[in-house]
Amino acid sequence: MTVIHQNTEVENSISQETTVSLCKDLSIALAKFPKVRLGHFPTPLEPMDRLSELLGGPRLWVKRDDCTGLSSGGNKTRKLEYLMADAQQSGADTIITQGATQSNHARQTTAAAAKMGMDCHILLEDRTGSNDPNYILNGNVLLDRLHGASVSKRGSGTDMNGEMEAVAERLKQDGKKPYIIPGGGSNQIGALGYVNCARELAEQAVEIGLNIDALVHATGSAGTQAGLVTGLTAIQSTIHLLGIGVRAPQEKQEQMVFDLAVRTADYLDKGLIIERSSVRANTDYVGPGYGLPTDGMIEAVKLLARTEGLLFDPVYSGKGLNGLIAQTKAGYFDGMENVVFLHTGGSAALFGYSETFKLPGYTQ
Ligand SMILES: *Cc1c(COP(=O)(O)O)cnc(C)c1O
Repeated sequence: MTVIHQNTEVENSISQETTVSLCKDLSIALAKFPKVRLGHFPTPLEPMDRLSELLGGPRLWVKRDDCTGLSSGGNKTRKLEYLMADAQQSGADTIITQGATQSNHARQTTAAAAKMGMDCHILLEDRTGSNDPNYILNGNVLLDRLHGASVSKRGSGTDMNGEMEAVAERLKQDGKKPYIIPGGGSNQIGALGYVNCARELAEQAVEIGLNIDALVHATGSAGTQAGLVTGLTAIQSTIHLLGIGVRAPQEKQEQMVFDLAVRTADYLDKGLIIERSSVRANTDYVGPGYGLPTDGMIEAVKLLARTEGLLFDPVYSGKGLNGLIAQTKAGYFDGMENVVFLHTGGSAALFGYSETFKLPGYTQ
């Protein structure tokens, strides 16, 4: 028994050395892309011991990308570090982007534009049909306006890319130099932020001697997962990556992630082959639709607020967490020791969904 144990340790130490050296190579490959500093990195990696004890499965950890520091944080900050640098290089003075009414991406983009002295136009699509004044004006929308962006609304099902092009044309005629960032910042440029996050997490794990078995997070416009798939492939990681869907059905979600991962790997130009089998999405926790609350999300958000003092959001990270908790209970992670949940942020949206949680009022 002792011999087997020693062998395992030797194997681990070799693979740690390899990881460190592949992470260095990846840093060098990433260094050729322009990047502006917008956030606080590396974000912390912390255990969630009260939750782990409650669920009785593997030890659960949280990678705190809700703490990126830019206008209450979130996963779009990493993408924007590359996207805003590209905008700057192209000589842009105005940023255009789009999202749902309570878009965290739009909010972080308005903050990034403010920090870089650029104008910002955001187009918000009404995907939920909610008339709740908090949904329409509070939460992320309040912050968009505080950051000084011009905010306009569009109806559900509008061709948002077409609308952004039209706004760009109008601005060009006024002598402006607009730069369009796609919804969620999800293209091969933005995804580089999560290629880099895969490296950051792997290095953190080596530093504290942690062997990560699985990484779980909410997946929407696909840039986060595509970047992670590409980064984990580049460092030959065996971490089991699982996206929890918030909008599209499984096949469509996985295809979106895979296509963008292939484009990102090409852009990174390291001759990387992305395996289709490394892209996994579980879309069982979407509920009635994008941005529409589910009981599982409400329970998960309340549970983490009360057991770990952590805030998650109703649209993305709360549904992702619902998936993590349900899949832990269902035994999906059985045999694994350490599972990391990537906290992609979004707590500002809680103030747009305050009615959803039906909380008791004051006590005597
Ligand atoms: C945008 C977002 C996601 C999804 O990330 P994608 O890169 O769009 O898949 C997850 N969580 C939060 C809080 C987000 O704002």
